[in-house]
Amino acid sequence: MKKLPIVDSQWSVNGYRISLFIWVFLWLIFPVFSQNKSCEFNSKTLQFIGKPVEQARCLLRPNKIGGILGEQLGKLPFPLEKVVGKKVKIKKGDLRRYLQKNNISENSVGGSLDETLCKAKMPGGEEIEAFYFVIHDTSSPYLKDETFPANFDTDAGWKGNDLNIWLKQPVAHVFVNRLGKSITVNDFNKTVTKGWGTKFARDFLKVDGKGLQLHIELIQPRRREINNPNPANDLIAPVPGFTENQYERLALLYIAAGVRRGTWLIPAYHSAIDAGIKDAHDDPQNFELDKFAEKLKRFLKLF
Ligand SMILES: [Zn+2]
Repeated sequence: MKKLPIVDSQWSVNGYRISLFIWVFLWLIFPVFSQNKSCEFNSKTLQFIGKPVEQARCLLRPNKIGGILGEQLGKLPFPLEKVVGKKVKIKKGDLRRYLQKNNISENSVGGSLDETLCKAKMPGGEEIEAFYFVIHDTSSPYLKDETFPANFDTDAGWKGNDLNIWLKQPVAHVFVNRLGKSITVNDFNKTVTKGWGTKFARDFLKVDGKGLQLHIELIQPRRREINNPNPANDLIAPVPGFTENQYERLALLYIAAGVRRGTWLIPAYHSAIDAGIKDAHDDPQNFELDKFAEKLKRFLKLF
């Protein structure tokens, strides 16, 4: 969700030597950061340039430590390459039956399947439903120098798996814990009630366009990188980054959003959406796109 600032205020009192160190550090990594170009954006449509699948290839660029983005993908893993932007053929009744059979409430996967998604108002006055499915990690709990707990992927009692805390922090639509359980804190039919979801929405989409993005937060604890000049950094994420159950629930959420819209949304990483913006976030870390695609493939076989 968040990336702590590289330079912490308490360091400024330590004077010239540290400032110089940070300057040299930034100079050394500048060529890397300069790769973090934003995907091309059209301010008239409030969308990125290209067909939905082309946009997704840019918005799902590999995301490395610190939010350093890799090259645009040549092709999305199957079935994403085939479905993104296309008509959803899954019937609402079939999805509803699956949810009931598996004791998953519609309320936990973004809200009623009968509702549309939230809407954005285009500069020309036209209204369109959300089209970007933005994937985040919470970067919390922040463990500082504690190791990742041995059983945090399976222990419902671990503090990070308590989803109710997010009811007071409605900064996304849905949160998914390590066990693959989810809570909806903002129905997919409305925009996030706290903040903007992304700096891109804050700076470019603004109030009228904010509804173009749905936000899914995957619970992921963070630790600090001891050698980083910022003592409060949260650069270290677990490996693997997410559990099988989280990918499965994420795929189900993607399907629920698609069924409601009638079109497969454009999946995107928060880091790539905000690329090029100052203090852009670094999440989701260690996300394996192939695993997400595999879960989606399994669901598509089922419906
Ligand atoms: Zn985020």
